Amino acid sequence: MTAITPDLLTIPRKDAPGLANLVGLTREGLHAALIAAGTPEAQAKMRTGQVWQWIYQKGVSDFGLMTNLAKPFRALLADNFVIERPEIVVKQVSDDGTRKYLLRIAGGHEVETVYIPEEDRGTLCVSSQVGCTLTCSFCHTGTQKLVRNLTAAEIVGQILVARDDLGEWPKPGRNPKDETRLLSNIVLMGMGEPLYNFENVRDAMKIAMDPEGISLSRRRITLSTSGVVPEIARAGEEIGCQLAISFHATDDATRDRLVPINKRWNIEALLAALKDYPRLSNSERITFEYVMLKGVNDSDEDARRLVKLIEGIPAKINLIPFNEWPGAPYERSSGNRIHAFADIIYHAGYASPIRKPRGEDIMAACGQLKSETERGRRDKVR
Ligand code: SAH
Ligand code: SF4
Repeated sequence: MTAITPDLLTIPRKDAPGLANLVGLTREGLHAALIAAGTPEAQAKMRTGQVWQWIYQKGVSDFGLMTNLAKPFRALLADNFVIERPEIVVKQVSDDGTRKYLLRIAGGHEVETVYIPEEDRGTLCVSSQVGCTLTCSFCHTGTQKLVRNLTAAEIVGQILVARDDLGEWPKPGRNPKDETRLLSNIVLMGMGEPLYNFENVRDAMKIAMDPEGISLSRRRITLSTSGVVPEIARAGEEIGCQLAISFHATDDATRDRLVPINKRWNIEALLAALKDYPRLSNSERITFEYVMLKGVNDSDEDARRLVKLIEGIPAKINLIPFNEWPGAPYERSSGNRIHAFADIIYHAGYASPIRKPRGEDIMAACGQLKSETERGRRDKVR
């Protein structure tokens, strides 16, 4: 067993009933909220910019610290609004540096967010729903019913929480380049199906991309979908982020079993949507995620079928060694099998990186996320 560092935080949640949270509002939404609270229309645009920068560029959540705002205006803000993030219930740090946050959100629900440091980047794996309506048979989240969609505030709040914890709010005069930031990339690969919570995911990612705030390039944001075909083009048009597809099988019978949304939109329909994806090019390839399940989808035949299927689509194939969870009905393919599979894809001209499992000792790896509340409930039932 590897060491786990639970870091129980006991800061009581400050509840401020009736006060609206400014986090998660689009610029237009923030502008309208400031006017509704009594900001003179002539000042509203400037005030919106200033408040936006305090929240998203400096990470400030106390109106009293917003020193370029006149004191009466700070008081008006404090009388009407809060700047609130989800509350950290537990933080765990893996031996490999991966950090997993269990966050509590309104209604007492819980979601997980994972920060993965690498040599050339730091990636935050963000959740979009509590639970998931889909029931992919290899995914731990898929065993948990959908509780609710996250709000835009709760999605962007995960980024703010991570930056707080990493201590990464830029010092005056120093604004690190993307590649040297601790939190340089976002993947929507946590709990939930992001395209079933489209508007909130879109608004949150627009905030993350805003140049006067968190300011991450759209190329550093990847949305992963199990294949909600009718929303795929819209993701390209309205968010403009990179796209990853949970592909996982090369024939419909197997994909029906692994990714049941395939019964609604099958492989052919999915591939057609991908060929039409706006912005698709060699520099902006689609990532095909492929979980390696022993004896299920990992034969040489599968690898050859896969490269045939995706012919003509600028793509890279990300092979994910299956991450086990209690009661999972699958096993991880052997290392040799995964490498043989990767070789076939590579020789067909596609990059075929094998994803290194991260944070396994704290159940933070892909597909292992599930709310503690739900786990607790199950344990009680047992
Ligand atoms: N709902 C979205 C995004 C979240 S899942 C989607 O399905 O794409 C993020 C990735 O983790 C997906 O590719 C998913 O298929 C994969 N995954 C799920 N469970 C896994 C497991 N047990 N081991 C490895 N990868 C898994
Ligand atoms: Fe939901 Fe994605 Fe898990 Fe499937 S793999 S159950 S879509 S979170």
